[in-house]
Amino acid sequence: MARSAEIVFVLKVKEKMMKFLRLRKQVEKKVEEPVIMEFEGIPFVVIRRRVRYSRVEFKNNGLRVIVPRGIDPLKVLEENRTSILKKYRKLISQVETAREKSLVHWTAREFETLISSYIEQYSRQLQVKVKEIRFRKMRRRWGSCRSDRIITFNRYMQFIPEPLIAYIVFHELAHLIVRGHGQRFKRIIAQQFPLYRQMDKELNLYGLKLLT
Ligand SMILES: [Zn+2]
Repeated sequence: MARSAEIVFVLKVKEKMMKFLRLRKQVEKKVEEPVIMEFEGIPFVVIRRRVRYSRVEFKNNGLRVIVPRGIDPLKVLEENRTSILKKYRKLISQVETAREKSLVHWTAREFETLISSYIEQYSRQLQVKVKEIRFRKMRRRWGSCRSDRIITFNRYMQFIPEPLIAYIVFHELAHLIVRGHGQRFKRIIAQQFPLYRQMDKELNLYGLKLLT
């Protein structure tokens, strides 16, 4: 893949990590300051905590190593070298695919009308009642559903295709029946969206393009 895509991605991740660090500094004054290091050209955040075992997390927003005091994070990464490099390559290729996703440009009004009509259709279908709908720009999720039946949708959904919007609405409404993402939840989702795994993948790609 194009090397430039990787560089852009790495810079983006670094920027996000700095933001994360600044936030942490504000929130957890007691905790030792986390630092950014590099492993095989991959930037990662080191978080020192009073944990028993070291932990490596690899998410869309980059690599994190949680280690107890006195443990060398690079050694921890070296021990997980194969899986980390594999995951990183996968992530970079996803970023590359995501760049090719074309965006839809709903107007705010079109978007909100679309949401309302799916809310109406699916809440009838699932026999649930929403208390309130909110819109907000979010970096980590497409939507959320609180136990007081307030559902929040990500403003960035305004750039994704209609079937995915419908899918997110259905997902959040299904949470009014089942809280978690267990088997029961998946069965409800599969009734309406048998190809939900494919849709999750699509959303993941749009997430990489729009949210990271
Ligand atoms: Zn959910």
